[in-house]
Amino acid sequence: MSLSEWQRKATELKFEGRAFIDGRYLDAVGGQQFACHSPVDSRLLTQVASCDQADVEIAVVAARRAFNSGEWSQSAPAERKRILQRFARLIEASAEELALLETLDMGKPISDSLALDIPGSWECIDWTAEAIDKVYGEVAPVPTNQLGLITSEAAGVVAAIVPWNFPLQMACWKIAPALAMGNSVILKPSEKSPLTAIRIAALAKQAGIPDGVFNVLPGFGHSVGKALSLHQDIDVLAFTGSTGVAKVLLEAAGQSNMKRVWLEAGGKSPHIVFPDADLDHAAEAVAAGIAFNQGEVCTAGSRLLVDASVKDQLLAKVHQALQAWQPGHPLDPQTRVGAIVDHQQMEKILEYVQIGKNEGAQLSCGGVQTMAETGGTYVMPTIFNGVSSAMRISREEIFGPVLSVLTFADESEAIAIANDSEYGLAAGLWTTHLGRAHRVAKALRAGSVWVNQYDAGDMTAPFGGFKQSGNGRDKSLHAFDKYSELKATWINLD
Ligand code: NAD
Repeated sequence: MSLSEWQRKATELKFEGRAFIDGRYLDAVGGQQFACHSPVDSRLLTQVASCDQADVEIAVVAARRAFNSGEWSQSAPAERKRILQRFARLIEASAEELALLETLDMGKPISDSLALDIPGSWECIDWTAEAIDKVYGEVAPVPTNQLGLITSEAAGVVAAIVPWNFPLQMACWKIAPALAMGNSVILKPSEKSPLTAIRIAALAKQAGIPDGVFNVLPGFGHSVGKALSLHQDIDVLAFTGSTGVAKVLLEAAGQSNMKRVWLEAGGKSPHIVFPDADLDHAAEAVAAGIAFNQGEVCTAGSRLLVDASVKDQLLAKVHQALQAWQPGHPLDPQTRVGAIVDHQQMEKILEYVQIGKNEGAQLSCGGVQTMAETGGTYVMPTIFNGVSSAMRISREEIFGPVLSVLTFADESEAIAIANDSEYGLAAGLWTTHLGRAHRVAKALRAGSVWVNQYDAGDMTAPFGGFKQSGNGRDKSLHAFDKYSELKATWINLD
């Protein structure tokens, strides 16, 4: 489809902005709404229900009732699998509509929404559903007069609070394993990108997920998010978002019912290039690693660590590679970099550009807003050269297309700089030396390490962080652990 065809489709699109509770779309109890604007050009898309404590109360009662009824929680895993796979098929069949919603709501290129976000969402549900009737319990090697059964059972009511950078995909990484295990789920999308989460609630119902099992509460973190985090009858809180909010959620669990809190938080990932690397491919990956999704990626390779002897050579190639990552209209299928999610985030990015300049780093490209005439929020890919590990632009997550370039003298210094961070989400390294690849991958304190590539991922591999990048893992069979309680049952055989 061309830009004009997508634009025409956008004018015909219908928006649903209400909450979804107990199988029905509803306005917020208090009637509050907030305006949902598109970062593409600032146009008003729709009004969205602004839920708060009152809506949380109703949703938790519905979710608990559904859980206790056993209709979903006690159904055969194969039955849940069948329904969830139908859910996945319905999302797949609505791919164009959902991709358009995602792009208008969040600003990412339509080609990414269509090729990555929406397929990544339904594939996650499909894969997880397929797995659920193949997961077995254990029999413990207890004395012969005993039978020790080790089983996993659904935890109960799960709240999932998710961010705006991959709105539907991040939601599915939580809701798929939570639902597959038999839990009831309350999903809170980000106030900056609520539309696809709200839309799929109708598809969940159509697929056969019983009323009360899947609920969506749009609204702000300080109202609906906070009410979920402090609720006494929510068993699990699964979160993806910033490290600052993650810490607030840990406190909220302590202040309320000690609900299990699983956190996928921020990152400041090192992308390390050794002098023996294939510099052409490394440069392409460095550019993509900071420009993809407008740099609004938790695993963005935002710290380039390069051996001093090849820095100039590599940087020339990175500049060249970034030419393919210039911002464009998000609905143009050729566009690889779209709009920043909103004005607030754009201002934050530009503020960090100023901080970098004040700290004495050299701005070697970008650092400015572009396409302002559209009314949208676009920022040029940015490189800071001459950055030191102590600078804020090297330590703090900017969450935009801003690359900090640091140099190292040898392998041990590269590892030391890479690990000198409160974060530990991901890391990449480029070398043609097999031993070094293994040595460095082992030494890096990060949940994902990529060798001679960046940002590889698959449903089969767990995803999550070390240190203040979080705890627990999304994706793979490990994800089930977050949404289940482990039970030991002792049967006396005498
Ligand atoms: P954020 O922490 O501001 O918000 C995330 C969610 O939390 C939103 O739904 C928000 O409304 C809610 N929230 C905010 N304050 C709250 C509170 N006091 N109580 C309860 N909920 C609250 O993050 P963001 O700006 O939406 O997303 C960007 C962040 O997400 C970045 O730090 C990024 O690294 C991180 N992220 C991490 C991963 C990962 O898997 N580790 C993936 C994507 C994004």
